[in-house]
Amino acid sequence: MIVKFWGVRGSIPTPPTPNSLKERLKAAILVALERKPDPSKLNSFLDSLPDRLVSTIGGNTPCLEVREGNDIIIIDAGTGINALGRQLNDESFEPDAERLRYLVETRYHDIDFSRFSETEKTLRLILLMTHTHWDHIQGFPFFAPLYNRGTVLDVYGQDAKQIQEALALQQSDPKLFPVNLVQAEAKISFHDFPPAGLTLGPFRIESMPLPHPGGSLAFKITCKGKIMVFATDYEFVGTQPGSEDSEADLARFIRMADVFISDTQYTFLESMTKEGWGHSSPLKVAEMALHAGVKKFFLFHHDPFYGDEKLYDILERTQAYTNLLRGDHSMAIDLAIEGREVEV
Ligand SMILES: [Zn+2]
Ligand SMILES: [Zn+2]
Repeated sequence: MIVKFWGVRGSIPTPPTPNSLKERLKAAILVALERKPDPSKLNSFLDSLPDRLVSTIGGNTPCLEVREGNDIIIIDAGTGINALGRQLNDESFEPDAERLRYLVETRYHDIDFSRFSETEKTLRLILLMTHTHWDHIQGFPFFAPLYNRGTVLDVYGQDAKQIQEALALQQSDPKLFPVNLVQAEAKISFHDFPPAGLTLGPFRIESMPLPHPGGSLAFKITCKGKIMVFATDYEFVGTQPGSEDSEADLARFIRMADVFISDTQYTFLESMTKEGWGHSSPLKVAEMALHAGVKKFFLFHHDPFYGDEKLYDILERTQAYTNLLRGDHSMAIDLAIEGREVEV
């Protein structure tokens, strides 16, 4: 399966600031002055520079796509789901015959209607919701496939009724959004995630509740013998109910995962001042992942106040820390970066 990061930021969308772009440009120019690249080979020069100079970690809030062939699972509907929706429409949209006929008959008399398909293609999607804090749902009204009659969307989460209410509330017309959720043309169904797990197409999906204000759900997806676990918005401290049991449960849940993507919002020091805020820190999670035999660990739910440089610094410190601990184990560590695809 392929996992693609469409949104990796926690809490609030965080576009790069004008100043951070200027600083990056300045650093790249300094390298160029030193290396004097051939102007006709600028693309290969840019490709040779580290990502931190020519790219960005990304500012959209959580959304992941998990794909195996034509089967697609989406996890969370943060602002990253907007670009995913546009891509899905480009891939799958075929003109709606009835609407086209109306347009042709009323406005565009010179179009040859017969060349359009009479059948609308169906787009079947699964959306797994970790929870409904705003950063995980705020992209949903802008998810273009909602407005296609051919979309069949099954939403799963801890409490289907509550998820439906939260999505409908943020989309209530006219004060919060101009189109009500009930006006969306997709066939949307909401389901409580079954405690025994789900088998959907090539995917086996299991869940685990996490300690977070209001609760959150971790998901484990197994496909063709490979395992990926996504756990965001959780904190193991005494103030969160059931915290100690959950820590041991999560360590078991991620055991031998090929890929583990986890909330690591706060540095270890900052996490001490933000106890009870519901988020984790990279060193602690990395240690748990290492002992659980995880092969690749991704830092996720980046803090909106941490710029790219700070996040790369956190990555290096986490790698250095696990190198000290690793013994016979080995575990690759990376940042979740918007637009990146990971083969699991
Ligand atoms: Zn969040
Ligand atoms: Zn949350």
